[in-house]
Amino acid sequence: MSHRALVCSTYSAEETRIVGASLSPVLLPGDVISLSGDLGAGKTAFVQGVAVALGAERAVTSPTFTIVHEYEARYPIVHLDVYRLNSFQEVHDLGFEEYLDPRSIVLIEWGEAIAPMLPRRHLEIEMRRAKDPESDDERCLIFRPHGPEWIGKVQAMRSTAETLLNAAALHSDGPRFVVTPEPHARDHRHPTSEGEEA
Ligand code: ADP
Ligand code: MG
Repeated sequence: MSHRALVCSTYSAEETRIVGASLSPVLLPGDVISLSGDLGAGKTAFVQGVAVALGAERAVTSPTFTIVHEYEARYPIVHLDVYRLNSFQEVHDLGFEEYLDPRSIVLIEWGEAIAPMLPRRHLEIEMRRAKDPESDDERCLIFRPHGPEWIGKVQAMRSTAETLLNAAALHSDGPRFVVTPEPHARDHRHPTSEGEEA
């Protein structure tokens, strides 16, 4: 169960890729990541960052129309997009259970649509555009770990991402990451700056 969500702001697609790349060192075969958020939220950009950092042999493209792409990398990567599937039955018929291969890292766009089919332990990432219409490139990434191992992995990602984003000096005002208690995370109006664990 997740009680606290980690919220990360990014200000370009490249920054979102850096956050994805920051998660990659802690990913192991069998890991499942569900990405949610509207079209253009940056789900595919995040997967690109993960795949490049895992040494994928070719560039990640959107699987929206093809539903599944597989990449050879440090571990095999399965990249699914279930947007065009209309029922759990269609997802099942696609062979979804077989794609949840314990030898692969599995990333699922629109995963929240098939939440009951996801393994209990997984990382949920919700991506949103900023409410401010002026900042077209701002995104908010909300990390919800499901399962104790994911809490540690998300912490490791945070520290790597902070280091890399600062080193690249891509954007420098305000805290990058905040921890917010659930369930208020879902409206993201009152994130608390994290100093110490409450
Ligand atoms: P999705 O897979 O969620 O539909 P994509 O990753 O395919 O989204 O597309 C995201 C689009 O938004 C790209 O055109 C990208 O350049 C743009 N973009 C702008 N700012 C960001 C950001 N902070 N993070 C991710 N993508 C961004
Ligand atoms: Mg996509």
